[in-house]
Amino acid sequence: MKKLARVLTPSYIPAVIAAFVVCVAGILADNQNQVVAEARMRAKVADELNPIRSKLEANVNGNIQLVRGLIGTLVTEPGMDQKRFSALSRGIFTERSQLRSIAAAPDLVVSLVYPVAGNEKALGLDYRKNAAQRAAVMRVGDTGQMVLAGPVDLVQGGRGLIGRFPVSIDAGGGSNRFWGIVSAIIDLDRLYADSGLLSEQLGVDVAIAGRDGSGASGSVFFGDQKIFEQAPVAMTVLLPGGSWHIAAVPKGGWPATAGNAWFIRGLIVLGGLMIILPMVLTGRLMSERQSNIRALRHSKAQLQELSHRLKIALDSSQIGIWELDIASRKLLWDDRTKALYGHAGSARQAYDDWKETLHPDDLDRAEQEFAEALESGLAYNSDFRIRLPDGSARHVRAIGSTYVGADGRRKIVGVNWDVTSDFETRETLFEAKRLAEAHSAELEAARHRMEFNALHDPLTGLPNRRFLDQVLADRSRHFDAQAKLSIFHMDLDRFKQINDTLGHAAGDEILRHAAALLSGNANERDFVARIGGDEFVIVRQSGGAEPDARLAARIIEAMSMPVRYKDQECRIGVSIGIAAQSHAADDLSHVLVNADIALYEAKRRGRNRHETFTGELKTAVFKTKQTADEILRGLEHNEFIAHFQPQFCPRSLDIIGVEALARWDHPTKGLLAPHAFLKTAEDINVVAAIDQAILEQALFQIYRWEANGIRIPKVSVNLSYARLHDENLIDRLEQLQIPAGRLSFELLESISFDESDVTVLSNIRRIKELGIDIEIDDFGTGYASIVSLLKLTPRRLKIDRQLVLPILNSAAEKRLVESIIDIGTSLGIEVIAEGVETLEHAHILKELGCHGLQGYAFARPMSANDLATFAFERRWLAA
Ligand code: C2E
Ligand code: CA
Ligand code: CA
Repeated sequence: MKKLARVLTPSYIPAVIAAFVVCVAGILADNQNQVVAEARMRAKVADELNPIRSKLEANVNGNIQLVRGLIGTLVTEPGMDQKRFSALSRGIFTERSQLRSIAAAPDLVVSLVYPVAGNEKALGLDYRKNAAQRAAVMRVGDTGQMVLAGPVDLVQGGRGLIGRFPVSIDAGGGSNRFWGIVSAIIDLDRLYADSGLLSEQLGVDVAIAGRDGSGASGSVFFGDQKIFEQAPVAMTVLLPGGSWHIAAVPKGGWPATAGNAWFIRGLIVLGGLMIILPMVLTGRLMSERQSNIRALRHSKAQLQELSHRLKIALDSSQIGIWELDIASRKLLWDDRTKALYGHAGSARQAYDDWKETLHPDDLDRAEQEFAEALESGLAYNSDFRIRLPDGSARHVRAIGSTYVGADGRRKIVGVNWDVTSDFETRETLFEAKRLAEAHSAELEAARHRMEFNALHDPLTGLPNRRFLDQVLADRSRHFDAQAKLSIFHMDLDRFKQINDTLGHAAGDEILRHAAALLSGNANERDFVARIGGDEFVIVRQSGGAEPDARLAARIIEAMSMPVRYKDQECRIGVSIGIAAQSHAADDLSHVLVNADIALYEAKRRGRNRHETFTGELKTAVFKTKQTADEILRGLEHNEFIAHFQPQFCPRSLDIIGVEALARWDHPTKGLLAPHAFLKTAEDINVVAAIDQAILEQALFQIYRWEANGIRIPKVSVNLSYARLHDENLIDRLEQLQIPAGRLSFELLESISFDESDVTVLSNIRRIKELGIDIEIDDFGTGYASIVSLLKLTPRRLKIDRQLVLPILNSAAEKRLVESIIDIGTSLGIEVIAEGVETLEHAHILKELGCHGLQGYAFARPMSANDLATFAFERRWLAA
């Protein structure tokens, strides 16, 4: 499409028209040539065909004439014999005729033939009886006309034309009589040959139609039927009694193109080219000219646009252009450059004018850079300050390059622009960067501080729990197969008391002291951490120079040294649990748990000592844990019940009271005494709950017995330190509505009744106010000072059975019991003896003035119902 458009430009139109005309003329001329050639060809064919046609006509007619001559003689000699007939016939069978045989049939029966030889069989043939020839023969007889039939295939072989002639003879009186028939056979092959049809030189293919003289409509008997379909040259062969249609085409058919066609076409093309080519060339030149003009116009417009743009760019960018003629030192400044330098006036300047404007500080450098650029011929690139007429400074950037002008002079051309603001921005940026750097250093330091704080305890400066976790995780991941680690888990003893009594400042001091002490005693490669409250951890390599146990002992000893706080001496201790990795790959968090188990054991075994984790310890802990779970469940199911052991007056042997003792009605293990659960219950802080349950049952029973007519003067209930320490104890007791004088609480002598414990003291006071007696239990086993005990003003003392049991055998023990009883009596405190196992004991204690007796000698602890029966039946009197 584009190509077409290009050809159809005005410059090519004349050439296109000429090409069209030449083509049309060429086609017409070619056609004309074809027509002429065809006509010439047809004439040539007709020239060859015409002699053949006339020879055929002449030969056939000649033969017929010869036969007619014979018939003429026959008419005159109708009775002629065979001999005569042969003689006559021989006369006409000349070389020039194509006759082959002749037969005469008077009355339609063949009786004469020539030549006889070969035709004997025909003699005697009756045409009327011959199916093949009857119809044809009868037609001849009927019409009285000669008929030329054939070609037919002959009985004797070969092909022939059969001419049948009717013969009539003069019957006298001017009338004729039908005599018979003469038939003559013309040899067809000879006819063809003699007519030139079979000639080798024949330049045409010939076909003949018109069997039996039927003309153009008859069937084809010579040549190819197809010739008639090829627009042949056709003629008619006139025969007696009919005609043939003869047609011819050149051998091999009509030529498609004329023989000289390509020569003529060549001439046409040549002529056409001679017309078209010059026109195309002219058109081409025209169009080139047009496009050159267009290109020129386009580049001119582009140039205009470019210079316009350049002008706008220079105007808006405030870039000034300058040029220096190097030899003459003449300087050319454009308006913007002048404005930049604060100059107005003529465009002509000199190098020195520029030099004068330079800032003195930059003068040398700027000149040198310029001189270098001129000398090297390389690009000039420089920054410098100039002084404006008003005295202010301006930063200018200059770039340029040297060239040789059209006039052959060396010049340097370049641009200047104001970079003052760039310089200022850069200064500001430098400052900002400096500040940012300073700031980020500060941030970095702060981050370090925060990181340190996050991983350290602010009070002691030791690593904290989080740091420990990190270290444990880290060492667990990157363990050293050679170095197994141990973990010390430590808990300060008595820290809580110091904190509670002396205040937090003292507590802090103690913690700092402990931290310093641990760091000081540990190896410097050991990791020491405070992981909360008064708990510390040391992670160290086990099996080092100092065994774990030795280090632990050293720490315990150091910790047991008194610490001075203000003018007070504080004593603390430390319990240590130690666990070591059994394999270097053991998870350290498990080791820490094991150390914790060992610590628990150390505390359980009386504190201020160290224990090392073992498998058995773990099992024991597990068992304790199981018991603890069972106790909690037992409490929920009210499995803790009170049993009662009565106390007696030594003289009257009346029941003066009962002691309620806890029993655990365990679902599988049966009834359990306190030693099976009390320790564990203490560990998990549920003794107070058990105490409460026993107290409630004791109160309930005392009413029940009373309702059943059994009077028990008082019931005593054991009170644990935890319960005594409970701030809610009094509220609970108030709710129970306890009848005055019927209940007493047994407090262990081992409980320290220090003045410091405000809650305990106030609780004791208020218990008394509620009308509940206080008894000191297990008296003689603890180390309480008599003085502090007296401050409590208890109602009774219960002498521990360890003191009571030996009185039978040891006079000293007996005196001790006696003096306790004496002191008690003198202070108005009743004294009860526990563990009275025999009546002998009872007797001696009675002698010693004891106020009450409790022991197996009279009764063991029993259920509430048993006790009711026991008291009702007064069974002990029987004993
Ligand atoms: P305890 O307060 O000294 O109680 C007296 C213990 O001595 C009872 O043991 C009792 O069965 C036993 N006993 C009585 N007569 C004799 C005797 O003739 N010979 C010997 N060998 N023992 C005798 P039990 O019931 O096993 O209680 C043991 C300890 O458990 C009690 O000692 C008491 O400290 C504590 N306990 C018992 N019940 C409670 C309770 O409800 N609360 C608290 N906090 N502690 C309780
Ligand atoms: Ca008791
Ligand atoms: Ca006791």
